[in-house]
Amino acid sequence: MSIEPGALHVVATPIGNIDDLGVRAREVLAAVDLVAAEDTRHTGRLLQRLGIRPRLVSLHEHNESERVPQLIERLRAGESVALVSDAGTPSVSDPGFPLVAAAHAAGLRVIPVPGPSAILAALAASGQATDRFVFEGFLPPKRPARRKRLQALRAEPRTLVLYESAHRLAATLDDLAAVFGDQRSATLARELTKRFETIRLAPLRTLADWVAADPDQSRGEMVIVVAGAPEQPASAADLDRVLELLLAELPPARAAAVAARLTGVPRKQAYARAMEKGEQGTANGRE
Ligand code: SAM
Repeated sequence: MSIEPGALHVVATPIGNIDDLGVRAREVLAAVDLVAAEDTRHTGRLLQRLGIRPRLVSLHEHNESERVPQLIERLRAGESVALVSDAGTPSVSDPGFPLVAAAHAAGLRVIPVPGPSAILAALAASGQATDRFVFEGFLPPKRPARRKRLQALRAEPRTLVLYESAHRLAATLDDLAAVFGDQRSATLARELTKRFETIRLAPLRTLADWVAADPDQSRGEMVIVVAGAPEQPASAADLDRVLELLLAELPPARAAAVAARLTGVPRKQAYARAMEKGEQGTANGRE
């Protein structure tokens, strides 16, 4: 394979099953001048199994500030570089983002080589709505901060994707059930693509009780996918706010018709409220 000189290749690697490494990923890793890896021993073992012997350099959160300018210099000199993390897609909850940003800032070409990603594997197999989702990464490790973050997410209508670590899974599921409600649907996706892969869709309380009762369900790596909050019907307060604005400009019947369309409240109800507000306005001395 011919490799583009001076380009940064962002290469996804398996999240468990080595056969998930893409054909193109393998070719790029074999052809580049340099592989920047989160853990050179870990990536070295993977590449050894693939029969690849590239030059490896470490890139992790503790050496990024000095390593990124060095890598940018080498790219500028025409070397080709592949960025990988220990598992999945680099720079997504993994090292690499500063290098990718610096490559763009330097006007260098950034080439994605897509492949495994725990977020998308979990979401696609979750059975939860996939048309809109938000990725929140890891929640705060301490309970008060975690609950506060969940409170802020309680009314989020999009599907929520969370990473969690084995030793916090039970506590996090408990918090999710307490804040989002026991009956909110969720999917626990554990050890994806590995021997003990387990994917279970159930109400949050059921998942929390299941994990609390069976410590095996907290082993390994996991993603939690939570259904979004049901869209709230327009409240009486919303209708009042809209009517207030419209009644200043339109007769009650017209204001009610527009308010009904804007809020989804039945037209009759909007009209009754418009009349009430009209009467209140007159009683308060308005025309
Ligand atoms: N960048 C990686 C990716 O694209 O998948 C994710 C790295 S992040 C530091 C590691 C987290 O990803 C784990 O704590 C877990 O939440 C999730 N994860 C990684 N591999 C997984 C797997 N095989 N099954 C379930 N979750 C996994």
